[in-house]
Amino acid sequence: MPRPILATIHSSALRHNLERVRQAVPDAKLWAVIKANAYGHGIERVYEALRGADGFALLDLAEAERVRQLGWRGPILLIEGAFEARDLELCSRLGLWHVVHCDEQIDWLAAHKTQVGHRVFLKLNSGMNRLGFPAERFRSAWARLNALTQVDEISFISHFSDADGPRGVGHQLQVFHEATRDLPGERSLCNSAATLALADDAQVRCDWVRPGIVLYGSSPDFPRHTHGDWALQPAMTLSSRVIGVQQLQAGDTLGYGSTFTADGPMTVGIVACGYADGYMRACGTGTPVLVDGQRTRVLGRVSMDMINVDLTPIEGAGMGSEVTLWGRASNGARLSIDEVAAAGGTLGYELMCAVAARVPVMVD
Ligand code: PLP
Repeated sequence: MPRPILATIHSSALRHNLERVRQAVPDAKLWAVIKANAYGHGIERVYEALRGADGFALLDLAEAERVRQLGWRGPILLIEGAFEARDLELCSRLGLWHVVHCDEQIDWLAAHKTQVGHRVFLKLNSGMNRLGFPAERFRSAWARLNALTQVDEISFISHFSDADGPRGVGHQLQVFHEATRDLPGERSLCNSAATLALADDAQVRCDWVRPGIVLYGSSPDFPRHTHGDWALQPAMTLSSRVIGVQQLQAGDTLGYGSTFTADGPMTVGIVACGYADGYMRACGTGTPVLVDGQRTRVLGRVSMDMINVDLTPIEGAGMGSEVTLWGRASNGARLSIDEVAAAGGTLGYELMCAVAARVPVMVD
């Protein structure tokens, strides 16, 4: 018998979230960010639901090829500047837009013999200090690119470090607009948090927004806002079943390291889902979980292939009971991935990206 673990991708939720972003920024074009295999959901599985976007932004050539193979003829952006000299031939053939973030990439473009002009987003480091030209070298980088016959179109991009945090975007915004003042071309700044919270301001919104996490129905700034506050619908359910039951008495311990001790009689369900399925080891005792659509908690440590959950408060629960690690239970109850992630000290982003290849996936 196959292990009962299953990830379900909800196409209607993806469509809803895309529409939600459209409504938030009706005047902007939208790159749907599908890097990291669509944040763990699977590029092929989200494509139909997200093809209403104006373009797809992703990490590398392999992902871009997959999107072209699905029949997408529109814009594709290599969002993190992940190209090298040897990639340019294929980039041209696939008609990709690139982010250019360093001098070496301009050298490679200059050396590339091509009939097809490249479309480039020149990246400014406005304060994130990850990729991008510093403000003082931005105009000279633009001038070099602008002189290349290989480059057809230059747009401008930067990335906020704290769109959902206390520092905000004010300083980066100022650096970006100063560095790009009077330069001709489109502009892009907003990730999910900025798109939903700040994009009423045209200076923030610009021409293209780049939402990722909100398309998958997770809140970029949980617990400040839940996905419900943003009117988003979670696009993934991770579910499994109880495959074993243990009765504990006061003083009995549970699992590796004996980190949990029963303080009275308890019923424990052993669930087919562990860290090798992508369920974080940090999501131990206290992490919320649904059994038969009712809320209970993980007990003890997460093992490679199993977790332990408290069945004591759930009448009728036992072998074969449905377990919802996050997402929707059959009875309609919901558990947000953000809440599970928070219990493990991380974010919904990490949990959804971590779902392992061995987990079967269904699209509904
Ligand atoms: N733009 C860039 C350059 C990114 O690196 C990312 C994600 O890391 C995004 C947009 C999308 O971010 P989010 O998922 O927070 O919307």
